[in-house]
Amino acid sequence: MTVPRHWWRAGSRISLLALLGAALGILLDDIALGLLCSALALLVFWYVQLFRVERWLAQPDREPPEARGIWGRLLDHIYRLQRQSKEAQGRLEFSIQYLQDSLKSVRDAAIITDPWGNIAWVNDSAESLLGISLNDDVGRPLVNLMRIRELSQYLSLADYSQPLRLLPTSEREACLQVEVSTFSGGDRLIFVKDISEQYKLEVMRRDFVGNVSHELRTPLTVLKGYVENIQSLESELVDQIARPLAQMEMQVVRMEVLLKDLLWLSRIESIEGADKTSPINMASLVNEIAEDLRAAWPQRELICSMEYDGMILGDAVELHSAVSNLVVNALKYSGADSCVMIRWSRVDGQPTLSVIDEGEGIEPQHIPRLTERFYRVDKSRSQNTGGTGLGLAIVKHVALSHNAELVISSVYGKGSEFALAFAPQEDNVD
Ligand code: ADP
Repeated sequence: MTVPRHWWRAGSRISLLALLGAALGILLDDIALGLLCSALALLVFWYVQLFRVERWLAQPDREPPEARGIWGRLLDHIYRLQRQSKEAQGRLEFSIQYLQDSLKSVRDAAIITDPWGNIAWVNDSAESLLGISLNDDVGRPLVNLMRIRELSQYLSLADYSQPLRLLPTSEREACLQVEVSTFSGGDRLIFVKDISEQYKLEVMRRDFVGNVSHELRTPLTVLKGYVENIQSLESELVDQIARPLAQMEMQVVRMEVLLKDLLWLSRIESIEGADKTSPINMASLVNEIAEDLRAAWPQRELICSMEYDGMILGDAVELHSAVSNLVVNALKYSGADSCVMIRWSRVDGQPTLSVIDEGEGIEPQHIPRLTERFYRVDKSRSQNTGGTGLGLAIVKHVALSHNAELVISSVYGKGSEFALAFAPQEDNVD
């Protein structure tokens, strides 16, 4: 290691001072006293320098004091580090300001919270949309200001991949969508968007479908009645048109089933945000469904495996329709000699209802689209099986309204599993 020149110089100055001290000691006839005097002089000099440095550091905006040698070097280093850190701080402040300006201009409410949910910053829209203000509410817990149970539950989750939708209530007219991202070890950036217009359109669409289906039921019943009447007539003409009449009857029945499913779907959608409060014994509900379906499909093997005796909060009619749809699909889309299993169990703490078949399976590209209305993997086959194409859409909405997830897994050519995974239930559901 080479010693820098200024250290050599400082070393030689100290040696010179020591020599002067020794010379003084010879003059005074006491070398130790001479050396002590020179050490004292050095100490006083360093004391003065330290005093100047400390005074300068206490007022960081000032230029460093004049100094030479190693003290000058030391001050230069400190001054340079000070300037670098000021520049970095300036850049950081600029970035923060830039980020805040860009978030300010966003129409959605933007809120930054610390890892404990206390508000660190909000933009202007947060004040107009949620009544949260930068001046009054920084440092306060967000959930205390927005007292919404679903929001508190959502914020306590670790997974924000799906946005949260807050439907209008008696206290809040707007429909809000909440999106959360975490950064910097737990801080959260929360966007709250007013989606009332979009929600209104959805409600209009749903009501329109519901109303049209309802209105179509009466003419259809009349048509069905006429077809049945004509079929019952004893006439040669009726015998001649027996085939078209039978076709008409079949199509009318199909339309009836379709309208029934459409009406049911719009009903489930319309009560999607409502709380589910009835404790449901899924094991007995599944047994009931299995019994009915065994009667309707006597040649098929339907196994029930009840591995969990817990209850869930839900709506019995909706759950009945979802589970029946899944089991009927499993029976429809699998071979006559294969078996279908319904399992009620707890998987990773989640009460889970799975319907497993050994049927034709589904190719992976179709799986994400299966719950779309009228989506069918094989149109002609589905029509033959009498499906409306709405079964899985119904299951999806029942899952949504029960805070459950529909998980579809399938191996093409081997079979499929449709699982309804419910959120872990509180212990006192009984
Ligand atoms: P559908 O009335 O046509 O049965 P669904 O919404 O119930 O309508 O199902 C949508 C499509 O998903 C079906 O047309 C079928 O292609 C496919 N599907 C549903 N369940 C199964 C299953 N268990 N095995 C294979 N394919 C299935």
